[in-house]
Parts: sequence; C-alpha cells; structure tokens
Amino acid sequence: NELYQVDRWSSGWFRVSGSGKMEVTPGQGLSAPLRDIIDELVEERGESLPLILRFPQVLAGRVQHLNEAFRAAIREYDYQGSYQGVFPIKVNQRRAVVETVAAAGYDYAHGLEAGSKAELALCLAQKMHPDALLSCNGFKDDGFIKLALWGRTLGKNVVITIEKFSELDRTLKQAKALGVRPAFGVRFKLHARGSGQWEESGGDQAKFGLNAYELLRVVERLREEDMLDTLVLLHTHIGSQITDIRRVKVAVREATQTYAGLIAAGAQLKYLNLGGGLAVDYDGSKTTFYASMNYTLAEYAADVVYTAQEVCRAREVPEPTIVTESGRAVTAHHAVLVMPVVDVTGPTRDREDAPEPAEDSHQVVTDLKEFLDNLTLRNYREMYNDAVDAKNTLHNLFDLGYVSLEDRARGEALFHAILKKVAKLVRGEKYVPDEFEDLQSILADQYICNFSLFQSLPDNWAIDALFPIVPVDRLNQRPTRQATLVDITCDSDGKIEKFIDLRDVKTTLPVHEPGDQPYYLGVFLAGAYQDVLGNAHNLFGKVSEAHVTVTGAGEYNIDLFVRGQKARRMIESMGYEEVMLRDSIEDQVDEALRAGHLTPVQEFELLEDYGEELLGYTYLEYEDGADVIE
Ligand code: PLP
Repeated sequence: NELYQVDRWSSGWFRVSGSGKMEVTPGQGLSAPLRDIIDELVEERGESLPLILRFPQVLAGRVQHLNEAFRAAIREYDYQGSYQGVFPIKVNQRRAVVETVAAAGYDYAHGLEAGSKAELALCLAQKMHPDALLSCNGFKDDGFIKLALWGRTLGKNVVITIEKFSELDRTLKQAKALGVRPAFGVRFKLHARGSGQWEESGGDQAKFGLNAYELLRVVERLREEDMLDTLVLLHTHIGSQITDIRRVKVAVREATQTYAGLIAAGAQLKYLNLGGGLAVDYDGSKTTFYASMNYTLAEYAADVVYTAQEVCRAREVPEPTIVTESGRAVTAHHAVLVMPVVDVTGPTRDREDAPEPAEDSHQVVTDLKEFLDNLTLRNYREMYNDAVDAKNTLHNLFDLGYVSLEDRARGEALFHAILKKVAKLVRGEKYVPDEFEDLQSILADQYICNFSLFQSLPDNWAIDALFPIVPVDRLNQRPTRQATLVDITCDSDGKIEKFIDLRDVKTTLPVHEPGDQPYYLGVFLAGAYQDVLGNAHNLFGKVSEAHVTVTGAGEYNIDLFVRGQKARRMIESMGYEEVMLRDSIEDQVDEALRAGHLTPVQEFELLEDYGEELLGYTYLEYEDGADVIE
C-alpha cells in the first residue's frame, strides 16, 4: 500500500485488503477484490485479457459527490443561486458511461454537453431532467444548429453556446426559419489561465470564445432583434486538470465580473458556466504537479461558490446558477484496465552470471572481468566509470570486426554483473551520486504486458500522463523487482517508463517476481478520455469490458460483459471486406494444393485457423488459457 500510495490517490474508491488484494469499495460495506472478478471472468468464463473493469457505482458516486459538494458549499455560504453540473460527453461517450451519469444525475438536474453533431444526436436521445442543461459547445454548422433548436421543442433545456461571433446570426436565421425560440450561451475568452498541461486552453490566444468587444456586440445584436432575454448563459473554460486552486479562484473572479458586466449591459443571464478543469490526483501527491492537484473536491466547490458570491455581492447582481462541466473528475475513477504480464526480459535476466573470459578473449573482456573481481565499496565509482568505457570500447571493436560475437556476449554479461554489484553497493549508501541515479532503470526488468498503449492509455504516450499502476494482488508480499512496462505493439514507443511518486516521477515500478499464477497489473483512474481517444495502432482493437456491481462485502455481480473488437472488425475498418479476404485465401489455398504445397487435411486446418483468427480477439491469447510465465 505504501509503495503504491493507494490511499492517497484512490479517494476512497479502492483499497488494499488485509490479504493484499486490490479491492474496489464503492460504498459503505461494499467491497470486491479485483482478482476474484478477473479470475471468474478468465478461469470460469474463459474470457480473454486485457479488459476494462467498469464500476457504475463509482461513476454514480462521483456524480453524487460533485453535486453534494456544491450543495454543501451553497448551504455554508447561503448562496442564493443553485448548482447544476453538466457532463461533457467527449470525456467518455460510451453508452455505459453516459447512461449511468445521466441516471445518477437526474435528480440533481445534472446535464450533458455536446461538442459536435454526433455528440448532440447522442445527447438528445438521453432521458434528462427538464431543467438539466444540454449545452452545445464547439464549432457549429447549420445542421448542428438545427438539431439543437429542435431539441428545445422536445422539452430539453438546450443552450447554444456562441463560440464565434458568426454563429449568432446563423443561429438567429435558423431559429426564425424553424419557428423555434433559441436559448443562447456565449463563451468568453478569459485572460486567466489554468495550470498544468492544459494551460494553453485559456488566455487571449485560446481557440474558442469571444473577446470583451465581441461579447458586447452579441448583447447589442440580440437587443436589436428584441431577443436579449434569450441570452441565458456565460461560458468560460480555462483548461482541463487545473492543478492549482489559486488559478481556479482567479478564473472564477474574472468570469463572475464578466457576468456582472453583461447584467449591467442589460442581459438577464441565469447561468454562469465555469467549464471543466476540476482535476484528478493521479499521483496522490496533493501538489501542483501536472498529475496532481493541491485541493479537494469540497475545497473546489467552496472556493467556486465563495468567489462567485463575493463578486456578485460587490457588484450587486443576482447570484446565478453555477454550472461546471467536470468530465475528468467524474469519470476517471470508475474504470480499471487489467493487463496480464506475459513475459519478462531484462539485462539481469537470461544471462549467465559473470562468465570467465576464454583463453583467446580480447583484452577488453579480461579488463571487464578484472573490474568485476576488484569492485569494492571504496572504488565502485571509479570502477563503474571504467566499466562503462570498456563496454563502449567493446561495442566499437565489435563494429570494426576485432571482437567476436562470443566475446561480445561475455563482455556484456560481465558488464551487467558489474552493474548488479554496483547497484547492491549503492543501495546500502545514504547518498547516491548523480551518475548512479538511473542505475535502477538501466537494470530494470521489462515486464511485457498484453495490451496496447495506443489503444488503452493514449495520454501516457501522447502527453506523458501518469496513472497509478498496481498489481491487483500479492500486495502483502514485498515486490523484489523493478520494472518498466512494454506493450505488445510493434512500436518502440509502446512502453511505460514513468510511474507515480510522491516527490518525483519514478522510472521503474516495483513488481513481484511472477510465479506459477498469472500476474496482473491494474491501471487505475483510466476512465477519463482514455476509453475514447485510443487508436487502433497495429490493429489492436477496443478491449473487452466487464460492468461490475458490488453487492456486499466480497460480493459482486458481473452485470454485463462486452467482448473486445474482433480482428475482422479492425480489418474491415480499414476498408477491406471479410469475404474479399476469405476469397483471396481460398484462391491461394487452391493454388498451393495444386502445386502440392498443402495436403487436403492441411488445407482444411489452414482455412479453419484463418477463420478463427478473423473472429478472434486482437490481443495475445494463449491456447493453454493461462498467461503464466515459465
Ligand atoms: N468543457 C469544455 C469546454 C472543455 O473543453 C473540456 C475539456 O477540456 C471540459 C469541459 C472537460 O474538462 P475536464 O475533463 O477537465 O472536466
């Protein structure tokens, strides 16, 4: 637990049980060990890994906590307006996610946000509270605008946010043509900025939003049309994952001042929409580091409500309904990616310990052997540097043809033996010199995991996002290895070499020596953006997912299992057709038969194997059913 900081990042949704298992804990008296769920799926039902475990109770709980945090703050400050959340579905459009959020948020009038026509079409079909907002953001064409306007006739509280000035006249024209009265929001470019990785989403150069001059033009234009009452919402967003609460307060202040300015200009705004940005503490460090946050959900709600109220009181304007569009903080916790370790490699594995140089070995090899034999606590720094030089010489001489392949193998093995010995000596020292800091990662194992980084954790690849990664069991045993993780794509970028740490980022993950049981790693807080941003690199498709409800202490139900994409689906998504593939194989088989390269029995088997793979999972599947490392 201490090693993986579970209590610090899990916000109470996960814990380590007394028997060393990761458990999901979605409520009072509810707990289920992940290992038990995985074993049931794999061993009893014969399903394949990797898979995502989805916990709808956690998702619903997040929606509830968010709303309750704002309610508590509103009560505490006697705020005169209310709070209505909106879920931006771009964060995760999966049916299981949107429907769960919509249902959990119904009584809170928690709404949805659509950023494209397709997302709007999806949102319009959801059952929503009549007061819940359906916020339409992003660039809009006539089709988008029409759909949004029709939504109002369906009794949905659709608000069209003007992101570009030209959208206003376009919308007014469509509204007249359809005979539907619109409700407008207007997005304002705050000069306040977020903090962390999405800092650029705000500021004057932000992609979306109007400046102060354009904002006032919107008011004038609507006044001309005698439709100023249709402007109901001011929208701002300074970026996702805002790590520093001070930035939130500065932005809320500026947004509320803008709201007050619009009221002064004659608008009758009802909503102040402060966008997303509520962060997730991925590393549990509670700092302004990009993978963390220096505030709690309760502090966020309190600071937003307090700051908005302070400005409204000073400006003597009504306290509006506060809206936030939290996506990451709502969805991150509910999904865990489970991946099996299918193999282990590394510089200290599969090598003979310190071979003897042969009679005719090159001098550089005998030098390395000498360094190894004479290495002590007193001289290891000097010896280490000499060994690095010797290893480089070994490789240079090999390139020039002066060192044989056998000697290269001996030299490399001796070098690694030196590293291992140095690592042992360094471990005992209080002060570790800079040049030895990365020794741990040089000596680390590579744990090969059955998953695709590009499909399942795209943010780790693209923007170095950190996720807590923890073995799903054996947490009562001390991990004896340090590892980096590699995926099964044929892409050398497909690896994880950064792991959470309270003070820094670690370059290796403490792991156990895999034994005679499959060894599974869980990637936690993976429910925001990762599910939907992933891509099909190497044609590894969407992974299977299990929806699990916890019903008691150690009791759970697997409500639904959705198999991952089949190879056929992935190939078809690239423009091929299954029958085309099968015809081609059959033609080639006929030819091979005629040429005598295949027997009729082999022909049958080949076609059967080909067909099976087309219908199979795109990830590694072992015929003996177990991902056990020999
Ligand atoms: N609202 C808007 C306009 C956004 O662009 C985003 C994403 O960046 C969000 C809400 C969701 O933000 P978050 O996931 O940080 O809550």
